[in-house]
Amino acid sequence: MAIEWESVIGLEIHCQLDTKTKVWCGCSSDYDNSSENTHTCPICLGHPGALPKLNKKVLDYAIKAGFALGCDINKESKFDRKNYFYPDTPKNYQITQFDHPYAENGHIDIKFSNGCEKRIGVTRIHIEEDAGKSIHAGEETFINFNRASMPLIEIVSEPDMRSSEEAYQYLNLVKDALKYTKISDVSMELGSLRCDANISVMHKGSKKFGTRVEVKNLNSFKGVARAIDYEISRQIEEIENGGKINQETRLWDEEAQVTRIMRSKEEAMDYRFFPEPDLVRVVITDEQLKTLKNEMPESKIAKMKRFVDTYKINEKDAEILSNSIELGDYFEELVKTSNNPKLSCNWILTEVLRVLKDNNKTIEEFSISSKELGEIIILIDKGAISSKIAKELFHIKLNDKRSPIVIVEEEKMAQLADTSEIENMVMEVLANNPKLIEDYKIADEGRKPRVIKGLMGQVMKASKGKANPKMVMDILIKNL
Ligand SMILES: [Zn+2]
Repeated sequence: MAIEWESVIGLEIHCQLDTKTKVWCGCSSDYDNSSENTHTCPICLGHPGALPKLNKKVLDYAIKAGFALGCDINKESKFDRKNYFYPDTPKNYQITQFDHPYAENGHIDIKFSNGCEKRIGVTRIHIEEDAGKSIHAGEETFINFNRASMPLIEIVSEPDMRSSEEAYQYLNLVKDALKYTKISDVSMELGSLRCDANISVMHKGSKKFGTRVEVKNLNSFKGVARAIDYEISRQIEEIENGGKINQETRLWDEEAQVTRIMRSKEEAMDYRFFPEPDLVRVVITDEQLKTLKNEMPESKIAKMKRFVDTYKINEKDAEILSNSIELGDYFEELVKTSNNPKLSCNWILTEVLRVLKDNNKTIEEFSISSKELGEIIILIDKGAISSKIAKELFHIKLNDKRSPIVIVEEEKMAQLADTSEIENMVMEVLANNPKLIEDYKIADEGRKPRVIKGLMGQVMKASKGKANPKMVMDILIKNL
C-alpha cells in the first residue's frame, strides 16, 4: 500500500509598518523616489556611539497588529541583538525581539468551502528593523541604506497548516486584518509584506514532524502557494527515493518554478542573541492599550457579518463590499440615501467596481459621491427612469458636475409616464403591425407573452427607451 503523506506548514510574515520615520531615528521613511543613501543618519548607519530610540508610533502600530490578530499583548518586552555579518546590515547585527516578544498567542480562523472553520495559531509577533538593500550589477554590488532600520513586525504562525490552500488563505486573512488597521499598505508587490514558509512532510497520522525546510523569496500570494506545493512534492520524492531532508534554507525561483538551496540552516545559537544594551525595556501601560483598543476599526469579518444581517445581502457580496474600509463606508452611505440595500449593492458590484477597475482607481478617487449614486437609485426606484437609462445617466455623471436630477431634466431622460402619450405610441405600433395582432389572437397561452414582447419592444424603441415598461404592457394588453 502506498504511504500517505501529510505536509506541515508554518509561515513567517514580515510586515513593514507605515510610520513617517524609521524605527530608531528620525530619518524619513518616504524614500521611494529618493536617491540612494539619502535617508540615512549615524543611527541607521550604525556609526559607533550612535544610540537608537524606539519610535513610539512603531509600538502603537505593532500593538494594533497584535489586536487585529487576536494576540495577548505583553506589558513588558525587550529588544535583542541578532548577530550576523552581511553587507546590507551596517551594525553587523539586527535589533529584534528574541525571547520576550511584545505579542503572543494569537489566531486566525480560516474557512473551508464546506463551511467548516479551522483555527491557525499565531505564535508570536515581534518588532525588528529591516536591512538595507544590495543591488547586484554585473561584477559589482552596490548598497542602498535607505531601507536600513525601517520598522518591521514579524508574525510567526504555529505549524498548523496542512496544505498550500490553507497557507494561502491564512496569508490573505492576515493581510486583510492588517490592512484594516491601516498600519501598513501590506503589498507583496511593493515589498511591504514578505513571507517565508517552513515546510516539512511526515507520514499521515504521525505525531513527529519531519525535518523542515525554510523557503524564502516568495514575492506573490500565488507564488507562496506554488512554492509550497513544489516543496512538498520535492520532499516526498526525495524520501521515497531513499534520500533524506536536510534542514536548510531554499530560495523560490519564480521563473523556473522550483526551490533551490541557499544555505544550510543556522541554529538560533549561531546568531549569538543577547539583550540590546542601548534600548530600555519596552513597557506598555493599560492606558496605552485602552487608547489603542478604542482606535481599532471593526474587523473585516465582523463587518461582513453585520452587512449580511443588517442589509440582507449574501455573504459573497458582503465580502467584496468589505474589501476595504472605504468601500464598505461608501456602501453604507449609499444605502442611507437610496434606502435600497440590494440595488445599492448591485450597483457597486457591477457598475462602480467596473469603472474603478478600468481606470485603476480606488473608491476614494471615484467621481460620483455616494449621495449622487443614491439619487440615481431613488430615480430608478420611483420609476422616473428605467434601469437602461439609469446606466446612461451613470456614465454621463462620471464626468458631469450636475446633479443626477438636473441631468435627467436637462437631457430629457425622464421615463415617459403620460398615459395618453404612451397610448398614442401603442396605437401607432398596433396599426403598423396587423399581422402581429392576428398572431396574438390565434396564439396559445404559452406563445402570447412572446408576441406581446415583440410589440412591446417596438413601442419601447419608438419611445427611445423612455416609456414606462409597465404602463406600455398594461396599455398593450388592454388594446389587444
Ligand atoms: Zn537614520
